[in-house]
Order: sequence, then structure tokens, then C-alpha cells
Amino acid sequence: MLKVSIINKYVSAVKNKVHCSFNNLFERSPKSDYVLLSKIEKQPLSKLDYDSWAIAVGSVSFSSVRVGKKTDPSFIRDITTFYDMHNRPIQKCFWGTNTNYKQRIYEYNDAITSTLEKTNTKNIIINSCPIHQHKYPFGTNLKLLSLCGRWNKESEQMLCVTQNNSGKKLSILKLINKGKDNKSVLVTEYPWIKKNSENKGILKFISFNLKQNNHSLSVDNLKKSDNIEEIRMDQYFPYRFLNLNEKKQELPYLFLRRYGLGNMCITVDANSHKVSNDAYAHFSSNDRAIRWSTIQPKKKSIVNIAAHEAEHAYQHKQIGRLTKGSDNYENDCWHKFGPIKDELERREAIKYLKASKIYPLKSDPNYIRKHDSNYLEIKSTLAGIKAEKEYSIGQKQLKDLFPYFPNDINMF
Ligand SMILES: [Zn+2]
Repeated sequence: MLKVSIINKYVSAVKNKVHCSFNNLFERSPKSDYVLLSKIEKQPLSKLDYDSWAIAVGSVSFSSVRVGKKTDPSFIRDITTFYDMHNRPIQKCFWGTNTNYKQRIYEYNDAITSTLEKTNTKNIIINSCPIHQHKYPFGTNLKLLSLCGRWNKESEQMLCVTQNNSGKKLSILKLINKGKDNKSVLVTEYPWIKKNSENKGILKFISFNLKQNNHSLSVDNLKKSDNIEEIRMDQYFPYRFLNLNEKKQELPYLFLRRYGLGNMCITVDANSHKVSNDAYAHFSSNDRAIRWSTIQPKKKSIVNIAAHEAEHAYQHKQIGRLTKGSDNYENDCWHKFGPIKDELERREAIKYLKASKIYPLKSDPNYIRKHDSNYLEIKSTLAGIKAEKEYSIGQKQLKDLFPYFPNDINMF
């Protein structure tokens, strides 16, 4: 019978070179202590013992290795890898002495796999592989486990690996969710290695922890390779490493805070069906909500839209301070911030109020023209453009530092 089992990174490396060199980046270990005890080459799933506790759904073949330690004869690490019909590893199962049962599930986002044209190089194949890792407490009844056991999600990783045609790694982005409000980020770019050359180039990397607290993001423990002179640590920096939905969720708060609206109970919905088809997002003063459409923006950047909607929240704040408000949100702003004292600010707020009175209804035959020329929209559009400009400076720096990342992952 085959025992399905442990992995450890040295073993996983056998099947997955990407993870190997990646893990070794910061954790170079005495590799000589590990020995390969046995190995089962890839074979059809039917050859696997039926009693095995973890068979991946959708797998057609498997392989297995057992690793020991020279210095510790009682040490065993088994790893069984399951492959799908495309020969891709979809699950690794780990077992061993004095360790927890573990499984690691690989999900492939086929949409991201694509080819890119780059100068100097030919087609570059982009691979992105989010990895979900689950862990199970040590000592659990394995039979029960398969029937009613629950895998506790320990961590979740997203790996985006860029390779060229010959399989040489160009860059890797690794995001590990260490918990709800804590992420570890590692971005690397591998140098081209020239044959017969002394100069092998230098690995380029940045790494840091990304912490989230009440919609406020901060960076800590930043490390970088010496070949990166300086990283632009602007206010947008932590947001650049969020995925699309997280960006939609968190960026509006950055702009709301600029207007003192961080604690006004404005909710943000990253995917809402309440947004009309012709819009990417909207701000509702009545509902105190910024809502994003489920349709992903193509023409505008996320940061532009987030700033645009937050600007509307500011406009209604000012209308509230001018008039005591016509809904709860505006009225709360009146109570919290009081009347506007500055004369210029007051005149501006009057313009907001007038524009809100003539804000066109969707049913208006001239809706688009009236909408686009409405003062509220003009000001929000400007706020969006300004934010996008600010954002693009640091974005360009990161893209220049790590040029091989596919655009579709919405990173930076
Ligand atoms: Zn608008």
C-alpha cells in the first residue's frame, strides 16, 4: 500500500523546480542532510491503493517520493503528487513522522496563461498558479478524515511565475495570506544566465509584510536586493500588491480618509449587482455606499474609479455641511464637521448643491451629455485623473524593475 504523505520543500522541488529555487531563496538549508529513500515514478491513478486518504478530484496520475535524514533515521517525509489530464500537479499530499498531515492544492488560472511579445526575447509564456495550502492536525484518524474531517486552511499562496520558451524563469511574484490582515509579499526577477560566462547576473527582489488594520494598509520588514537602489514608498505602495477585488475594496478608503470620511460608516462593495450596466461603480449617499459593478473596468483604472467615487462622498459631505443634509449621511456630516467656515470652500459647496439639483435621471434622453457636464461629475473626473497620475509614477517604477509580469494579474 502506498502511504500518501508529507512534503517538504526539498522534495516538492523534485517535481516543481519553480517552487524549489523559490523556497531556497531565503531558506538555504543543509541540503546534504536529506536523502531520497524511495521514489514511485508517475503512473495512472488506478495503481494507487484505494485506501489512500487523499486522492485529488480530477487527477489521472500520481507520483510519490519518500525522503529521510542522514542524521535522524526515524525521520520520514512522504509526498504524493496528483496530476490532472494536462500533466499539471494539482495536489500534493504530505505525511511524515512528527509533523501534521498536510495537503496543498494547486489551482490554475487558465485565463492568465498567455504569451507575450517582449523586446530582446521571443514569446514569453506566462504561468500563474494560485496555491491553496491546507493543513490537518497531527494524529487524526485517517479514515475519519476522508469521511467527515475538515481541512483547516493554514495559508493561501498566489504564485505568478513568468517563464520564457525554454522554461527559464524570468520572474516570480509570491503572495502568502498569513491570516485575514496579514500578507507576505515577495517579488523576484531572475537574471538571464549566459552560458560560459562568469557574470551570471544578480537576482533582484523585494519582500515585505503587508498589514491591514481597519482599512489602513502598512508595510513592514521591507527587504530588497542591493541592485535595487530605491523603491518609491508612496501612499499607494501597499495597495499595489492587492488583488483586483482587494484593490476595489480598500482603495476607496484611502481616498475617503483624505476627506476625514474614514469613520463615517461608508461601506464598500467590490461586486454589486446594484450598479447599472453603464457604470463601473457608484456612490450612494442614501445608502452610504460605494459599490463596484461586477463588470471589470477596462477603460479606467481601479484607482481612478475609487478616487472618483470617494470624491462624490466628499461632495455630499459638503452639501450636508451647507444644508444640514437631505439624507442620514449628509446629516451626519453636518453634525460631525459642522458648517463650512472657509468662504471659498462654501462657494464650492454651493456649486455641488446646484449640480445635485440638476443631476440627470437615467430616463433623460440627454442623460450622457448632462451627466458628463454636471459639475459633480466634472470634479470627480478630475479627482480620478489626478489620483491615476499619482499612482502611475510608483507603478511605472515597479513595472520597470520587474518587467516580466503579465498585465492581466492587475498587480502594481
Ligand atoms: Zn461620477
